[in-house]
Amino acid sequence: EMFGQLTSGLESAWNKLKGEEVLTKENIVEPMRDIRRALLEADVSLPVVRRFVQAVSEQAVGVGVIRGVKPDQQLVKIVSEELVKLMGGEVSELSFAKSSPTVILLAGLQGVGKTTVSAKLALYLKKQGKSCMLIAGDVYRPAAIDQLVILGKQVDVPVYTAGTDVKPAEIARQGLQEAKKKNVDVVIMDTAGRLQIDRTMMDELKDVKRTLNPTEVLLVVDAMTGQEAAALVTTFNLEIGITGAILTKLDGDSRGGAALSVREVSGKPIKLVGRGERMEDLEPFYPDRMAGRILGMGDVLSFVEKAQEVMKQEDAEDLQQKIMDAKFDFNDFLKQTRAVAQMGSMSRVLGMIPGMGKVTPAQIREAEKSLQIMEGMIEVMTPEEREKPELLAESPARRKRIAQESGKTEQQVSQLVAQLFQMRVRMKNLMGVMQGGSVPALSN
Ligand code: GDP
Repeated sequence: EMFGQLTSGLESAWNKLKGEEVLTKENIVEPMRDIRRALLEADVSLPVVRRFVQAVSEQAVGVGVIRGVKPDQQLVKIVSEELVKLMGGEVSELSFAKSSPTVILLAGLQGVGKTTVSAKLALYLKKQGKSCMLIAGDVYRPAAIDQLVILGKQVDVPVYTAGTDVKPAEIARQGLQEAKKKNVDVVIMDTAGRLQIDRTMMDELKDVKRTLNPTEVLLVVDAMTGQEAAALVTTFNLEIGITGAILTKLDGDSRGGAALSVREVSGKPIKLVGRGERMEDLEPFYPDRMAGRILGMGDVLSFVEKAQEVMKQEDAEDLQQKIMDAKFDFNDFLKQTRAVAQMGSMSRVLGMIPGMGKVTPAQIREAEKSLQIMEGMIEVMTPEEREKPELLAESPARRKRIAQESGKTEQQVSQLVAQLFQMRVRMKNLMGVMQGGSVPALSN
């Protein structure tokens, strides 16, 4: 679980306030100590922790009593807001040049995921309708050039290469020329990474930057390196001037120090995050959602967004109307479950749903199996039955037929029907409609 330790560290802070009536200077001492410890253990840099704890404390004692809100909830709210602020508040979008091509220069130490990010970024921009070209500039590792060519093929984006005997700035010049000839919208240049910062690397980067005059200079940093990542962003910014950072490997068991420190320490925003090895695993950095994850409240927004990507817009609107009218039927049920299956591995999706943080492989297999069973039963329904689940609720004979044709038990069919009606109610409630709905009883 991403940031799991940080999340549970913070939880112990809220727990210490259970039963309190109001936040006071005295009763926040212990919780603030927990927050401080949790952040330090997450490898957030010390000055950042100090400022954070002070900002939260000041607000906590000044907040007074709000009717209906418990002190621990108040503290969660304050911490959440401060976390969002710490990470820069708003999402920081990529900038594009007024006239094409937009040039994006990527820098970073070796092994942070720079080459992978180059191709991921090309795919990400392609999905936004932009044509891209990659330039292979890692002249110290022939393998890196080969890797970029392979990844370029994978995402179907051309890669400009000039071997390892040409200086990076010259490769940049040739690549840019090629991109202009090809009329591409965005050029992304991958550069050499070293094991550590050295003079030659910085000088080469400066030359490349001068040649390309890029709109974005992004430093790729590894989330697993914690506050060290924030220090690197600072150094690269001072040396070559950068526009932001890309944080990779957020899917691993990174502790949160990098995500929380980069902006505050370096003044530069995290623009994108890598959350897996697949080419699709690159997304914008949303401070509010990240705060939500850290606080263990699940990432409902990401979940909804992914779901909408899969379902077509009109489908989504249609579905929304159906939910409001409590007309969600078995066709929608099928569409939904298939959309979820398309979204990639079940576990990722389930992990985004609040309260389902820890899903075991056995549970996932179980969920996938029960989806299959449900599909089997829906497939043998008549079109009318799919559209009007009431027919099934009212008629044991119909349920019996479905059980026979799908090879399931009548009890399983009854369960499915009941589940659909429960879903209607639950989904409607979820959408904030208070009028409610009733679950029709199955007649026997
Ligand atoms: P470079 O040396 O900076 O170009 O790094 P590479 O692009 O070759 O990546 C190094 C390793 O990290 C590879 O095995 C990648 O698959 C892996 N990697 C890159 N980004 C991510 C990520 O977001 N999540 C995970 N889990 N692995 C990543």
